[in-house]
Amino acid sequence: MDLFKKMEVPKNLSSVDSIGGKDTEHVKCLIIGSGPAGYTAAIYAARANLKPVMIQGMQAGGQLTTTTEVENFPGYPQGTDGTAMMEDLKKQAERFGTEIRWGMVTKVDFSSDVHKVVIDDEKVILADAVIIATGATAKYLGLESEEKYKGGGVSACATCDGFFYRGKEVAVVGGGDTAAEEATYLANLCKKVYLIIRKDYLRASKAMQKRVFDTPNIEVLFEHSTKEIIGDGNVVQGVKLIKRKGESDEKEVTIKVDGFFLAIGHTPNSEVFKPYIETDETGYILTKQGSTHTNVPGVFACGDVQDHVYRQAVTAAGTGCMAALDTERYLAQKH
Ligand code: NDP
Repeated sequence: MDLFKKMEVPKNLSSVDSIGGKDTEHVKCLIIGSGPAGYTAAIYAARANLKPVMIQGMQAGGQLTTTTEVENFPGYPQGTDGTAMMEDLKKQAERFGTEIRWGMVTKVDFSSDVHKVVIDDEKVILADAVIIATGATAKYLGLESEEKYKGGGVSACATCDGFFYRGKEVAVVGGGDTAAEEATYLANLCKKVYLIIRKDYLRASKAMQKRVFDTPNIEVLFEHSTKEIIGDGNVVQGVKLIKRKGESDEKEVTIKVDGFFLAIGHTPNSEVFKPYIETDETGYILTKQGSTHTNVPGVFACGDVQDHVYRQAVTAAGTGCMAALDTERYLAQKH
């Protein structure tokens, strides 16, 4: 709470007045982002007659559209397809009157009571309240083979996809807390888990490291980097690694795995808001504990852009609901 007392909304940053001057409109509630957080915020805001307008962003439907089956979202006893689930959420938000638009937010000005948001460098939307639900993007290694096998064994979410590898052998890349947590989660399901670490030490906290080293079916491969993911064209069958010892000593090794999990961090999609909105050092938006309030009155944040701990569709949806309720109360007090 103290942190928020110290925060100040910067004034007189570069103005957006010069952009799209003729093409402006005024809305009550603008939702930025179309993952589970954004759609849930939209459903609640629309039912509360806030007439929300949603800007979908680059990846309509958010991260869930990059996974295949979703089995852990409550209400789907047979599981569902990630893209289909987001389509359902979209229809539900539209049914209550949410207006959903294509576009990217390219600039904001949160220095006054009415918030200005620029879409695609062209159009200015004035909003009484803004809900930021722009999510986070998992980092990938950037290998061609990784792209080829996305959805065929390459995943950036063990909690989402680990279940499909029960009794199999898998690899996790990364040496932070996420990698350690995902490796131990997978070790409960899988026959064997390789943890691939580029350095000769883990960055994860001591407690998480202990959990990794105490799990007998995790094999830690220090000083290994991923060269290529191999498979039959459809599914992953193994990984080619480079084992390094010092500058000149390099050796190629291949491990046989059915799943390859990335856990090398996420990038919260908060860059465009940073001139006004407080974030932590990684870029996650800071919200007042137990709420979705940011440091700027009338701007709320929900979902993965403000959550580096849980990062689940259902927790994102939960905070989306909170953001809409916080918005409703904020607008009711204002008018
Ligand atoms: P981190 O940035 O902490 O760790 C990323 C890891 O991935 C590092 O080991 C890094 O290696 C490695 N890495 C990065 N790029 C590459 C690459 N190109 N090739 C190979 N390895 C790579 O991210 P996390 O997601 O683990 O954690 C983010 C934050 O969330 C941290 O503050 C963490 O403590 C927190 N967290 C907390 C949890 C909890 O409390 N339960 C659970 C999960 C996360 P290197 O060390 O060599 O740079």
